[in-house]
Amino acid sequence: MQILLIGPNGSGKTTQAKLLSNYLQIPLIETGQILRDIVAEDSSLGREVKKIINSGVLVSDELISKIVKEKLEKLQNGFIATGFPRNLRQVEDLNINFDRVFYLQIPDEKVIERLTKRGREDDSREAIEKRLMIYHQQTEPLLDYYSRLGILENINADRNIEEIQEDLRLKLKWLK
Ligand code: AMP
Repeated sequence: MQILLIGPNGSGKTTQAKLLSNYLQIPLIETGQILRDIVAEDSSLGREVKKIINSGVLVSDELISKIVKEKLEKLQNGFIATGFPRNLRQVEDLNINFDRVFYLQIPDEKVIERLTKRGREDDSREAIEKRLMIYHQQTEPLLDYYSRLGILENINADRNIEEIQEDLRLKLKWLK
């Protein structure tokens, strides 16, 4: 099963993806985490990625394609994806046949409130706002794309972790 969780930063997509990965016993691929691991290596690529991430803009589609394709080659029994594809170019480059795409829906004000509390290194006010803007411009068009394919499910992400997870599992039951 190939599942995508899509939503703005602060929608809880990573938390939900981890829980789902555990529940379904299939691996999680999260580009944000992979990039943060690259930053931790302190290589020249790491330093470059760090600058990009901390300013709130996206890293290049080429880098994402390379990273994701390497990961996908090793996986046969499905995966949970989050953080990618993040724009239509990546949809095209990666060409993944998702069985279901879950859209974690949450108002901008809630995202800002949650992220300000989280306090991660890349969570400056400017970066938060920039990422939201890019999300609306570049990632939201994917919703229309997956909706046309008939695989999009809307999830109200303005609830507690358990409720959202339960909702996701319930919606997945129809797939199994
Ligand atoms: P995230 O943990 O998904 O919020 O990602 C953190 C940061 O990593 C983002 O703000 C981007 O700079 C970068 N990033 C993660 N995934 C992607 C992607 N698919 N394409 C481009 N940049 C990404």
